[in-house]
Amino acid sequence: MIGTIYIAGIGPGDPDHMTPAAEKALSSCEVIIGFTLYISFLRDRFPNAKFESSGMTNELARARRAIELAEGGITVGLVSSGDAGIYGIAAPVLEMAERRKSEVKIEIIPGISALSSAASLLGSPLTNDFAVISMSDLLTPLDTIMKRVEAFAKADIVTVIYNPRGSRFPDNIRKAVDIFLRYRNPETAVGIVRNAYRERQSVTITTLSNLNIEDIDMLTTVIIGNSETFVYRNMMATRRGYGRKYAIDR
Ligand code: SAH
Repeated sequence: MIGTIYIAGIGPGDPDHMTPAAEKALSSCEVIIGFTLYISFLRDRFPNAKFESSGMTNELARARRAIELAEGGITVGLVSSGDAGIYGIAAPVLEMAERRKSEVKIEIIPGISALSSAASLLGSPLTNDFAVISMSDLLTPLDTIMKRVEAFAKADIVTVIYNPRGSRFPDNIRKAVDIFLRYRNPETAVGIVRNAYRERQSVTITTLSNLNIEDIDMLTTVIIGNSETFVYRNMMATRRGYGRKYAIDR
């Protein structure tokens, strides 16, 4: 009997923001595999599962382990924070399954990604078109990242930044902000959300020119507004466009 791998996004961290579908899938798993921090969120909730946790960069090892267990007939849960298909573990599992011509069943359960979590704490900055980029150059060349940043900056598109600043890439965010400053007003609103819906949550609204990269680390999501983004009573939002068509002041 071949087993199933449930690849579940568990949301930002607190139990209330994990979906019932993820909860149900993980309840059926004999083994749950994930990055140490996320496994620590789950231990108490799934008392019947065996847990296997490993460090951040061991994604391929986790994917391989899940496939091997499922090939042995075991029901396995593989977890990512947020949504497993957004800078997560889902594609590496599919890539590996394809290479191995594996017959395991794979089901992917969506989760609330950091961009939704961060946006909700800031207000509504992602109302209209937006782009998403990661500052990590461990798997994507830096040159490619900065070309994309420049395209987004030029296009006046609201931009979400994942993996904004790690010990192995401490300065990429500075380079990106400098590119934005070449194309956007220095007063453009920027939202910085650290540990959304987790302990030690912090939410800051600043501007492109005042942004302090020391406030940013790997537990942070940064949202750079565009020319339609405004701040009102410490909430950041991007206009939907109604104001151009209708009177919205009464
Ligand atoms: N699959 C995840 C993203 C993984 S990449 C998702 O869909 O959310 C890891 C990056 O996500 C972090 O460096 C950070 O930028 C962001 N992130 C994840 N959880 C977060 C949280 N609770 N608060 C703020 N940012 C978070």
